[in-house]
Amino acid sequence: MSQYVEYNWKANDEKHVWHSMKPYNPDATFIVDRAEGAWLTDIDGNKYLDAMAGLWCTNIGYGRKEIAEVAYEQMLKNSYTPLTYGHTPAILLSQKISELLGDEYVVFYSNSGSEANEVAFKVVRQYHQQKGETNRYKIVSRYRAYHGNTMGALAATGQAQRKYKYEPLAPGFLHVAPPDQYRNPEEMQGEDPTTLPSVKNLDQVMTWEMSETIAAVIMEPIITGGGVIVPNEAYLQGVQEVCEKHGALLIIDEVICGFGRTGKAFGFQNYGIKPDIVTMAKGLTSAYMPLSATAIRREIYEQFIAEGDYEFLRHVNTFGGSPVACAVALKNIEIMERENLFDQSTMLGESLKEMLTDNLMDHPFVGDIRGKGLLIGIELVEDKETKVPLDVNKVNAVIAYCKQKGVIIGKNGVTVANFNNVLTLSPPLSITSEEKDFIASTFIEAVNSIK
Ligand code: PMP
Repeated sequence: MSQYVEYNWKANDEKHVWHSMKPYNPDATFIVDRAEGAWLTDIDGNKYLDAMAGLWCTNIGYGRKEIAEVAYEQMLKNSYTPLTYGHTPAILLSQKISELLGDEYVVFYSNSGSEANEVAFKVVRQYHQQKGETNRYKIVSRYRAYHGNTMGALAATGQAQRKYKYEPLAPGFLHVAPPDQYRNPEEMQGEDPTTLPSVKNLDQVMTWEMSETIAAVIMEPIITGGGVIVPNEAYLQGVQEVCEKHGALLIIDEVICGFGRTGKAFGFQNYGIKPDIVTMAKGLTSAYMPLSATAIRREIYEQFIAEGDYEFLRHVNTFGGSPVACAVALKNIEIMERENLFDQSTMLGESLKEMLTDNLMDHPFVGDIRGKGLLIGIELVEDKETKVPLDVNKVNAVIAYCKQKGVIIGKNGVTVANFNNVLTLSPPLSITSEEKDFIASTFIEAVNSIK
């Protein structure tokens, strides 16, 4: 029996709380009372293994005492200093982020992934202007990608269903095709990135739009929310070469892929590229505090502090990089390193993918199983030949089955033409091998249960 019998949580939730996406995925909603490790307990005492890590963000798992302690201590020591001045946790965290990125970056802090991307857009536009290239304002991203909910980040998002009610968004954003190896097998060929259709498409669009109008390209290393689209190993190299050819900067959105989700500190490190700007949020604090960061290559930052006709970035964020959030992020990263969670993500992810592939690849509804580290997508189709997306009721039935058996999974893609047919498994990186097995066996059972 719940301790809350006197208070009607469900009725008051319905009455007072505006949930994001509730009608989109009704099977996923429930009222959580507490969370520990990878497990959620709802107000009725039901327990669920969170195989989505919240919204792909609780990388070290829930309820870490060390994090609570560091937040408590930092609040007493110095609860707030704006980053118009400076404070010690921000300095240490920025240094740590550069270390993880493997190069010299300067870090601007905000509170959300969307804001981190907005900062990147302002930086690239002003950077080109200050170099005298005043026509470079366009930002290129990919269809299917999600980059946030603010008017610029939403304009960069390549998912029409999230946008059309709110147009006009910020102008100057263009989209190119995603590197979908499952639906376009030509994307699989070869080690030479210049032969990949998606790289050629990017090059063509930038040419036709006039190179001298393109400020930057933004992309995730692996498209996550848009349906776990893992590119050809050579793809990002190709993108970087195209950016260099056209004089555009490359922004990599690591909001989901960062902090071990794909088995490395950052997703782009799987592909041997050197981004100009890297944005990050979610796993930066494992969602213990709102914090995001825009890491800007030192040479670019220098354009903003040089003597002469240069101006500083006209952007202030009151809460961004608060001492408490930065201290929490530092402790979060310390835990990830101490517990070897990046390698663990690779190991458990490979094992999970193998279990799914061994047991489900021959299933008539399973089109593709893909991913890197603990970022796994399973694309469900009506027919393996035509690849028509599986009926949404059947996709939802898998989610409902898993929930009923105590595992929360995700559904991703785009609702346009039913392409939200990719189920996602992305648990905290700190799960045990037994928990990984439980996710696999429940998911396999759920898929086998649909008719
Ligand atoms: N970029 C990506 C790749 C994301 O997945 C998200 C959020 N899911 C964002 C940006 C925006 O982050 P936030 O919700 O913190 O604004």
